[in-house]
Formats: sequence, structure tokens, C-alpha cells
Amino acid sequence: MNNSSPVHINNNAILVINCGSSSLKFSLIQPESGNTLLSGLAECLSTPQASIKIKHSCKSNNSEQSESSALSAPFCHQQALNVLAKKLNTLNLVKNIIAVGHRVVHGGEQYSEPTLINIDVTNAIEKLAKLAPLHNPANLIGIKACQKDFAKLPQIAVFDTAFHQSMPEKAYLYGIPFELYTEHGIRRYGFHGTSHYFVANQVAKIINKPLAQCNLISAHLGNGCSVTVIKNGKSVDTSLGMTPLEGVMMGTRSGDIDAGIIFHLVEQLGYSIEQIDTLLNKKSGLLGVSQLSNDCRTLEAAMFDKDHPQSAQAKLALTVFCYRIAKSIASFSASLVELDGLIFTGGIGENSSWVRQEIIKLLGLLNFHVCEQANLTARFGTSGNIATSASRPCWVITTNEEWVIAQQSARLLTQESK
Ligand code: AMP
Repeated sequence: MNNSSPVHINNNAILVINCGSSSLKFSLIQPESGNTLLSGLAECLSTPQASIKIKHSCKSNNSEQSESSALSAPFCHQQALNVLAKKLNTLNLVKNIIAVGHRVVHGGEQYSEPTLINIDVTNAIEKLAKLAPLHNPANLIGIKACQKDFAKLPQIAVFDTAFHQSMPEKAYLYGIPFELYTEHGIRRYGFHGTSHYFVANQVAKIINKPLAQCNLISAHLGNGCSVTVIKNGKSVDTSLGMTPLEGVMMGTRSGDIDAGIIFHLVEQLGYSIEQIDTLLNKKSGLLGVSQLSNDCRTLEAAMFDKDHPQSAQAKLALTVFCYRIAKSIASFSASLVELDGLIFTGGIGENSSWVRQEIIKLLGLLNFHVCEQANLTARFGTSGNIATSASRPCWVITTNEEWVIAQQSARLLTQESK
């Protein structure tokens, strides 16, 4: 990723689209400042409960307006985009939009940079759906719908795997027959790249070093979780793998398990492949161990309420979660000779003082020590270093993947126009 050239497009905005199978997240962002002019979410798409929520600032009284409405049949992505396009027109914002930037989950080995979408690129994204069957087809729905509603605007793909394309072979190869990589592309790709890149860049600014000289370990802890090690500004290893199932434990995903468990489930317990898929992707992680919830807030509330029937189980789930993350962070010391510090981001990383404290407590050997007061303060959008003065720094950074997509889309347009 080229992060050296500044973005020089004043007052223009990028429409950022993050399209899932049943949801569509959007924001209109000014790439230079990160200022969000409008944002929102369409949910429950393809069902009669489909709805859309749009937030935008109101110039006349400087307040924020929020509107929700139900979508009518056929409740699809295109319809949500039509509502959005109409709203952008009403607010006279269309004239500011210079491009649509799409988050695309899997770019395989082909895409390590933001890319102007043409027919070859849509075909490639479609082909890569075999590596990300839940995500790439949904991303394509968003691209195709935007090509209809915003036909005159350039459409740009920003890939979640792109930042990790700098990983060396030793990090991305699995210990399985080599032809599975060469013939079928089975290797680690990693995800959350845009988020890890953003927070690393923020820390580079805080410590006043060029990103290319920064050595960091970044923990993105949300519903999906990943740890990435960044050497001289580049991703050199990451915990998510060929799919977003590997690595640390997550909200509903198991993370690493002994692959032999899968044979055991099939041969001894009669599971089908479909049932194992659901088990490991949707019923495991914090939800599976706690038997209560995948939501960290719910688990913390239960853990602290000794009368809650699942109190002990909630604590157990959070304890396993923190231990596995600390283990992953410590293992990445094998990739570095210097370490500037650790970063926490994502819904849990940005807000859960308890989780951060538990993880840092396990990393004493790497000279990480938490400052309790700073850790309690760094929540709800407040960033900062939560380590003691004797410790290596541990920063809490609020991630902003949408802004990166807007910046990179704008930068690509500048390059294309030269
Ligand atoms: P994300 O996928 O990044 O939106 O993160 C979602 C996760 O962040 C969920 O597990 C939430 O429970 C967790 N989260 C959000 N706010 C808090 C909070 N105040 N304390 C603890 N966890 C939180």
C-alpha cells in the first residue's frame, strides 16, 4: 500500500459502501479530513423486516438528523441504494461525490492495492468467491447496484486482504502439500487489513515516526478478531488465515482448533460438513464457551453479577478469549527484532478495560504493564496509551476503516488523472 502521497482533493467526498449478504453500510466521507457528511445502515435485507437508517448533519442548525424507514418489497440491496441515492439528491450532496469506494473482503494474491473496478475486476472478485463464499458475492451485489445508481462515478475496490500481501512465504504457507498452494491458492491471506493499517498509521503519527520505521503488534478485537504483526510498516504475519475462521477466539467463531476435531465430529459424532461449518463459525467462540452470548458487554455484565446463573461460565469464556489473544500476541515476537508497542482496536479493544487488562497482565515477559487508571479512561472513543511509564506502550486506537477506503479511493483517482 502506498501511504506516502498526500490526498489533494478538496471538499470532495467518497461514498463508501460495505455490503454484506443482508446488510449495507454506507458513509459519505471527505477523504482529507475524514469528516462524515452522511452515514447509515440498511439491515435485514431480503426479508420483510428490511429497513434503512440514515444519519446526516443538518446545516441550518448544526445538529445531527437521523431517519429510519422500512423498505418495501422486494426488500433488496438495490432498493436500499435507491433510497440512499434519493436522499443524497435531496440533500444536494451528489455533486460532491467523486467516486464510490467498496470494501471487498477477498482480493486473493492479485490485489494488494485499491483498484478501479471494470469488468475484469468484477470477474476476478467473482472467481475469488470460492475463497470467501460468504463475503465476496455480497460485495459484488453492492458493486453492481452502485454501478446502476451511480453509473457516472468511478467504482473502486479496497480489499481487506491487501495490507497482508506483504507477508513472507514462511508466514502465509501452511504445513500441507505445496501443490495445494500452487494449484488451489490454499494459503493464509488475512483480513481486517484496512483496520490494522489505519491504527498503525495513527500510532506512527503519535510516536512521530514514519510508518515505514514502525514495528507494532495490532489486536483488532470485535465480533471478528485478529492480531497482526507489522514490521517496518508492513504486515508480516496475521492470525486470520485463508478464511476468517483461523487464529484467536472470536464472538461466534472458534479460531484455532485441532483439525483432528473435525474428523472426530464426523466419524464419532455423526456431524455433517454443514453442521460443522455452523458449529465453528456461528456457535463457537465467546458464545460457545459461555453458552450465554457472543457480546462482550453481556458477558462482562454476567461475570460481574455473582447472582447471574451464567456468571462463572461468562468469566470462563472471557478468560479463554484473553489467554488465546495474549498467546497470539506473544507468538508474534518471533517476527520482530524491535517492538514499538501494542495496539488495541475494534469494539472490544476500544471499550473493554477488563479484556485489555487481562491480556496485558499475561504479557509481562514482553515488558507490557497496564496503567489501571489510563486503561479505565481509554473507552468510548477516547484513545491513548494505557501502559505504565516503565512498560512498552499499549495504545487504544479507534479504528476507521471507512476513512481509509475514502482516502485510498481519492488517492487512486489522483494517480489515474495524472
Ligand atoms: P465490532 O465487531 O468491532 O463492532 O465489536 C463488537 C464487540 O464489541 C461486541 O462483542 C461488543 O460487546 C463489544 N463492545 C462494544 N462496546 C463495548 C463496551 N463498552 N464494553 C465491552 N465490549 C464492548
